[in-house]
Amino acid sequence: MDPKQKQFSIWYVFVALWALMLIQIFVAPLFNPTEIPYSEFKAAVTADKVEEVSISPSVIHGRMKPEPDSAKGSPPVAKDGRVFDTVRVEDPDLVRDLGTHHVKVTGVIESTFVRDLLSWVVPIALFVGVWLFLLRRMGQGQGGFMTVGRSKAKIYMEKEVKVSFADAAGVDEAKEELQEVIEFLKTPEKFRRLGGKIPKGILLVGPPGTGKTLLAKAVAGEAAVPFFSTSGSEFVEMFVGVGAARVRDLFIQAKEKAPCIIFIDELDALGKARGMGPMAHEEREQTLNQLLSEMDGFDPRVGVILMAATNRPEILDPALLRAGRFDRHVLVDRPDKAGRLAILKIHARSVKLASEADLEAIAIMTPGFVGADLANIINEAALLAVRRDKDKIELADLQEAVERVIAGLEKKNRVLNPAEKERVAHHEVGHALVALSIPGTDTVQKISIIPRGIAALGYTIQLPTEDRFLMTKSELENKIAVLLGGRVAEEIIYREVSTGAQDDLLKATDIAKSMVKAYGMSEKLGQISFERERQPLFLQTGQPQPPGDYSEETSREIDCEVRRIIDEQYARVRTLLDKRQDALREAAALLLGKETMTGEDLKVIMAKSGARQ
Ligand code: ADP
Ligand code: ZN
Repeated sequence: MDPKQKQFSIWYVFVALWALMLIQIFVAPLFNPTEIPYSEFKAAVTADKVEEVSISPSVIHGRMKPEPDSAKGSPPVAKDGRVFDTVRVEDPDLVRDLGTHHVKVTGVIESTFVRDLLSWVVPIALFVGVWLFLLRRMGQGQGGFMTVGRSKAKIYMEKEVKVSFADAAGVDEAKEELQEVIEFLKTPEKFRRLGGKIPKGILLVGPPGTGKTLLAKAVAGEAAVPFFSTSGSEFVEMFVGVGAARVRDLFIQAKEKAPCIIFIDELDALGKARGMGPMAHEEREQTLNQLLSEMDGFDPRVGVILMAATNRPEILDPALLRAGRFDRHVLVDRPDKAGRLAILKIHARSVKLASEADLEAIAIMTPGFVGADLANIINEAALLAVRRDKDKIELADLQEAVERVIAGLEKKNRVLNPAEKERVAHHEVGHALVALSIPGTDTVQKISIIPRGIAALGYTIQLPTEDRFLMTKSELENKIAVLLGGRVAEEIIYREVSTGAQDDLLKATDIAKSMVKAYGMSEKLGQISFERERQPLFLQTGQPQPPGDYSEETSREIDCEVRRIIDEQYARVRTLLDKRQDALREAAALLLGKETMTGEDLKVIMAKSGARQ
């Protein structure tokens, strides 16, 4: 919500409060007669001042006569023509008195009923009126391609989508699965005639930036149908009922334009399992229910297809995933090397490259990168080339762009003091030395002590030679060893460790834990996996695993084994680096001077100091 919008809603709250106050002051008294003592009432009757009364078992409700000439001196009973109330007391003479003074009498079973009703209903009706008015007001305004009326949610409609499947790469399986949807949108009649199963809700699942939005758009582009897009967070509102109204609106709009695609990004924002979160959120629940009933209510044959994206399918309300709703899941995963190359090529179409071949090198460097990262690399490289007055992007620009994307932009204002810098240099060389000393680990590409981003004070870029799907026990151990290299180097040089290794230790511990708990790589615990195999797509979410069903004793054994693995690697790295102390010092000194060095530089130093030993 932008500040302007917020101001607006505060304004509305003000108006509503004002209306309430006015009601209190002006409307309520009309229905709240003055209460007078019974004796005064009797006096008024005797003085012929009462026009009419209605008598209920407990209360007498009445109206005074308009007083002729407003005679002065009369006792200050209730004012002329005004209504009054008095509590009824046991008075056998009352009816007779009323008769003699010609007061109109009606009996009422419970005379306050109508009044009570009025005093409640009128303010409520007024309030609801104001409310509806405000809702309508909120729905107006706001730009975009086209904003759906009556609803504040930003819903964009694109009539002609220019994106096609050719703009997305590395997601071939997803494309294949979506092909059918395109067929249906293109020729709904054919599907109807043949009675094929028509897709209704398709959930695109994958990490951020893998191209889910892009794919949904491409489906619309390929089928040449309008594309409605919005985000789940647009429906999360403070006021109960607003989100639900928006959902209803969205579907009304879409049905008018069918065949079309509705795309909801961040479905998890509105589709979180009910009852989750700090409090049961009634508004979200209503919105979700509205979405469910809209999905159940529309006939897929009208040609509206709902697509949604999430990177956390596990927190979605199960009701959303049931048959007839988002029952089709399409995995949009991180691209492999070939996919990355294809994506880089797509984005390189709009820039000038020195050589196509360079992109392959970049694809090799970037396992784990998603499409958005790769698009970013090309963009950064183009900017760098421009800054250097080149007319083509060269490999060096691309490489630097990768580094920038990896570690965030160079923080110019962040200056380490010399002692810190020296420590970071030894730490990084420690990692690199271990990596170079152990055969079979990823080759070291670059070591740097230029701080980048917030978290990394220095970094060592290791290049995997290929994408890996399986890892052996010793490979995992080697990974742990490399991670421990930084801390051990600090310990050797300074005899004291620092906080700089926290992230390394965390990663090392995670690997060791997985070895023991998931992969059955501990002899002591045997070939037992305590962890359900995670779906590959959940790997990236960082969701805590549900606790395994093992005893406390096993849990203790697991801890022991994790510790043993780490300790063993620690000892190994210590021996290894102790032997290479000369190289460590020399390389750190060089790194301090140059701020960056390559793996080759380090190899040369290692060879030299090895020869001296
Ligand atoms: P998501 O919706 O999965 O978070 P987006 O579709 O918004 O990701 O991707 C953001 C941008 O990244 C896209 O506009 C596109 O430029 C680029 N991108 C992402 N994935 C791909 C891909 N598979 N192929 C080509 N470009 C991609
Ligand atoms: Zn480190």
